[in-house]
Amino acid sequence: RIIMGIESSCDETGVGLVRLHDDGTVELLADAVASSVDQHARFGGVVPEVASRAHLEAMVPTTERAFADAGLRMSDVDAIAVTAGPGLAGALLVGVAAAKAYSAALDVPLYGVNHLAGHIAVDTLQHGPLPKPCLALLVSGGHTQLLRVDDVASTIVELGSTVDDAAGEAYDKVARVLGLPYPGGPPIDKAAKAGNPAAIAFPRGMTGPRDAKYDFSFSGLKTAVARWVEGAERRGEEIPVDDVAASFQEAVADVLTAKAIRAAKDAGIGTIVISGGVAANSRLSSLAQERCDKAGIELRVPRPRLCTDNGAMIAALGAHVVAAGAKPSSWDFAANPALPVGTVSV
Ligand code: ATP
Ligand code: MG
Ligand code: FE
Repeated sequence: RIIMGIESSCDETGVGLVRLHDDGTVELLADAVASSVDQHARFGGVVPEVASRAHLEAMVPTTERAFADAGLRMSDVDAIAVTAGPGLAGALLVGVAAAKAYSAALDVPLYGVNHLAGHIAVDTLQHGPLPKPCLALLVSGGHTQLLRVDDVASTIVELGSTVDDAAGEAYDKVARVLGLPYPGGPPIDKAAKAGNPAAIAFPRGMTGPRDAKYDFSFSGLKTAVARWVEGAERRGEEIPVDDVAASFQEAVADVLTAKAIRAAKDAGIGTIVISGGVAANSRLSSLAQERCDKAGIELRVPRPRLCTDNGAMIAALGAHVVAAGAKPSSWDFAANPALPVGTVSV
């Protein structure tokens, strides 16, 4: 069966196509993405109205590109999945409206699904079925969560999350302090490769003995970096951008991997999946690999292209939801900007 996935929760318009095989495996056929990131760069963050308009303009061309890439026709589609939330209200609305229109026109069932669960499900396109249970570290621009994934198609339980900024948000804010472009993840990752991760001892948030074991905090780290840079500027020193980037990145990767491994060990879970845009970070995956090897835990990280927002992740999740025999969404379901991670499909 062919499943089409539509993503529009933030600033990427994504249309993915996958094939659900009879044995339950899911194969990637096409992954077309149009991004409005360049239009937001000068504002240092996503402007919702700009994103919505860009989705409107990109939806049909991106859909056409996905079908051309896969060599399929729209009549080949057996089911449609669309991001129902969480995300920006106006942005989500465009994808949901498009999905409803395609579903009606093609007379195929429609599934409204969870964007965050999609970030996890996408790994099955690269590494095959997920063990049940597995532990997911979801690190993106808007979320930082530790999740127990009993079944990515139906049952996800939140073990902990950030109490303030998301990891990706911290990257974007620190990049701005360092005069690096938006989004900040890729340029910090690059600068850090030339820097010394031990140059500056930045704080590890929420790691005290009385802090919640599985929660995160990145706002103190962000402030510490800003203060350090201000101090150096006041003294008239040149900012060692590479060292600051490397030291900041080390603090983030240290806390994320330590807590994920602790949660997996506590729950007796043998597999960790890291997903979301920040999973594309090179130090996060290398440190996670080092520590997972030591702990005897299997690590799965999708390739960077699959980590950031795309339609294939929604198609993949849709395929698992279809395979699980879930009921399609009702015609009148609405986008939910605050859809909780535990609600995998609506
Ligand atoms: P959410 O999924 O929570 O709704 P989002 O969809 O905006 O948020 P993603 O597209 O999954 O988030 O991720 C975007 C974030 O990933 C940005 O903050 C960006 O800086 C970060 N990011 C991308 N590449 C890297 C990298 N190599 N290292 C660190 N962070 C990165
Ligand atoms: Mg984005
Ligand atoms: Fe995302």
